[in-house]
Amino acid sequence: MDMSFSAEDLAFREEVRDFLEAKLSPRLREGAACTPSVFVEPDITRDWQSILNEKGWLATMWPQEYGGPGWTATQKYIFEKECAIAGAPALPVLGLKLVGPVICKFGTPAQKAHFLPRILSGEDYWCQGYSEPGAGSDLASLKTKAERKGDKYVVNGSKIWTTHAHHANWIFALVRTNPEAKKQEGISFLLIPMDQPGISVTPIVTMANDHEVNATFFDNAESRVENLIGEEGQGWTIAKYLLENERGGSCAAPALLAELDRIEAWAKEEPSGVNGAMDHDPILMQRLARLRMEAQAFEITELRILAELAKGRPAGPQTSLIKLVSANIRQSIDELTVDLFAYDGLQLPTSRPLYGNEAPEPVGSREAQLALPTYLNGRAWTIFGGSDEVQKTIIAKQVLGL
Ligand SMILES: Cc1cc2nc3c(=O)[nH]c(=O)nc-3n(C[C@H](O)[C@H](O)[C@H](O)COP(=O)(O)OP(=O)(O)OC[C@H]3O[C@@H](n4cnc5c(N)ncnc54)[C@H](O)[C@@H]3O)c2cc1C
Repeated sequence: MDMSFSAEDLAFREEVRDFLEAKLSPRLREGAACTPSVFVEPDITRDWQSILNEKGWLATMWPQEYGGPGWTATQKYIFEKECAIAGAPALPVLGLKLVGPVICKFGTPAQKAHFLPRILSGEDYWCQGYSEPGAGSDLASLKTKAERKGDKYVVNGSKIWTTHAHHANWIFALVRTNPEAKKQEGISFLLIPMDQPGISVTPIVTMANDHEVNATFFDNAESRVENLIGEEGQGWTIAKYLLENERGGSCAAPALLAELDRIEAWAKEEPSGVNGAMDHDPILMQRLARLRMEAQAFEITELRILAELAKGRPAGPQTSLIKLVSANIRQSIDELTVDLFAYDGLQLPTSRPLYGNEAPEPVGSREAQLALPTYLNGRAWTIFGGSDEVQKTIIAKQVLGL
């Protein structure tokens, strides 16, 4: 793999840098930097999404015919890296990176024409209905059922951990349409409107005091048959395609490396440590150096997989490697950050947001205030999208052939 940038790539990088400099307002930068949860709130992402959509740089994973920018893998990587360095807000992935590519690949022309422009414009905000109580790692055991009645499906059951369901107007859900079939074969992939009497959403507040996830209940909820993606019983195949995109297919390393750069900068200034500035502490600095090496090695693996994707090959089970390694590096970074801020890193603010005029006064710096809630929310990185143990099994069986 050729790792050097061509003259065109370097020119593209300049264009991205100029764009970010011009368009990333202080409010957007602050919203991104001061969000301790995994997802950034829609009041921040909505504005950033609309800026990128206007430029045609929003749906980086979509084919060009549906609104993707038509970038090479290198351009995509350059864009993600520059966004991470500039501190741009993470976009709402559930529409753009999960259900969007599914509709591009498996949707009917009518589904594409209806849903894709509404994802781009932000008119539709999506949540994901896969997990259920009793069906997380063992997803194929899911019980939420959808019965066909005339031109509708009637849905009953519940989903759990539905991230941002309280903001969403659509949910993509795995539902059981044939209870007689073998577990995987009885599952279908259904799009369901959230704004109806048959759906209720109950908050689950995380140990960091954030409301990010929910339990979602379906009590004779309805969705029209034209909202089924693919055929009845094809849900498992579609679900796996989506999970491969969830676990990889975008660039995680640039954000990890940018975070390490920020930590290094704080370490030079942060006075709350036991021995003054943190970069006097050899143990913390050794941990920082080790993490940087791990993140750099990970970046090469990620680039290799991106190069495969650019040749038109599917993301495949090796995305489990991306998910596993990036989640663990991220958690180690969060842990180092808490340690870096010493006593100030142990505060747990109860109110949100932690940006703007309503933010509570921090003890020490804003970065110190964010350390513990970010660490606590970040425990989820090795659970959602499939836990570490599940990723290791996929790697063992499907990548290494053990
Ligand atoms: C913050 C957060 C956000 C989430 N967002 C969403 C969302 O938006 N939509 C959605 O559908 N889901 C979401 N999830 C759910 C997530 O995908 C599940 O939590 C995950 O798949 C694990 O399932 P579980 O919680 O039922 O744990 P379990 O499957 O019960 O696992 C419990 C433990 O047992 C281990 N284990 C289970 N089976 C095996 C096995 N076969 N071999 C080895 N070890 C095993 C697991 O690794 C884990 O450590 C979210 C979860 C979190 C924490």
